[in-house]
Amino acid sequence: MKEMKAKDPKASQMVFNKRVYYLIRTLEMARDWKLSDIKPFMSPELYTKIKQNNEYDDYYVVDLTFKKIIPTGYHVKDQIQIIDFDIVYDQLLMNPKKKIKQSKQKRHYALYKSVNALTKVNASAQAIVCPNCGANINRITEGVCSYCNASIDVADFDWVFYDAPIEMTK
Ligand SMILES: [Zn+2]
Repeated sequence: MKEMKAKDPKASQMVFNKRVYYLIRTLEMARDWKLSDIKPFMSPELYTKIKQNNEYDDYYVVDLTFKKIIPTGYHVKDQIQIIDFDIVYDQLLMNPKKKIKQSKQKRHYALYKSVNALTKVNASAQAIVCPNCGANINRITEGVCSYCNASIDVADFDWVFYDAPIEMTK
């Protein structure tokens, strides 16, 4: 956190945690339904790897309860900041017959963003505004603004996935 603050003075643990919870919830739900929902929020290489290994399973994520984030590394390379961490969460799964599975998970993820992407005070964990037309582009598809078609790299604004578990065993 200290190293992160040196690059980004308004960074806070609370804002970062909110972003982490939002991203992980979105990813883990997208694996069961529509993986492309998470596409703008990860590196293209990671998306390809997850897509190739994403196997449909009867059980889907109903809820995740986050317990703990354990940072394991922070570094800057080629104008991007990368943060590695383990996260502990309780996972609630259900199948179409309403059978429930519950388990505690500890998993490794990494996020990255541009060194120029600074935390804004009062910004919500989700909101990103198009630099071209000013529209709220939370729902970007295929890396373009759905209003004006400007191409957008979310990592220029906020944290996105650099690494995540490729194959999920539920
Ligand atoms: Zn736009």
